[in-house]
Amino acid sequence: MDDVHGVFSVRNAWESLRLRCLRVTWYHIVWFPKCIPRHAFILWLTNLDGIYTQTKLLRFGLVQSMCCVLCGCSVEDLDHLFFACPFSERVWHALHAKCNSPWVQRSWADTLSWMEQFCGRSMESIVIRLMFVALIYAIWRERNVRTHGEAPKNEPTDWANLPNRTERIEPELESEPN
Ligand SMILES: [Zn+2]
Repeated sequence: MDDVHGVFSVRNAWESLRLRCLRVTWYHIVWFPKCIPRHAFILWLTNLDGIYTQTKLLRFGLVQSMCCVLCGCSVEDLDHLFFACPFSERVWHALHAKCNSPWVQRSWADTLSWMEQFCGRSMESIVIRLMFVALIYAIWRERNVRTHGEAPKNEPTDWANLPNRTERIEPELESEPN
């Protein structure tokens, strides 16, 4: 805990105590300039298998059924909930149609790998990450609202307006170096 001169420092103490792990490849999809902390937290938790989907709750014996609350017709796991569920598919389709880009359904792992290309500080890469993380957060929130018996907050087509909501940060981003 002492430095080369034998002087104690908090930094050296912290470095000697903390557990060092390899840096995950997806960190820049979660944490980046302008990220929204509550959105980033859900994505970070999801990547660490920390959210309680029904498949996970079933493993713990906490639920008897694994019926997705958004569509009522399939097992709820990460791939289904965020991408294969008809509800989520309509969300992604609506958003991609607005961005004039085709939606390609992928698994959770493949989507993260695909998103790794957006790692720069350009406006485009930041806006794409903001939209991706916001939709993951919104789908998870909608799922929780319905799980707890509340009325649906949003229809999938309403979420296509998300790009309009990110436009307010564009002037700020344009002034930053790529
Ligand atoms: Zn579903």
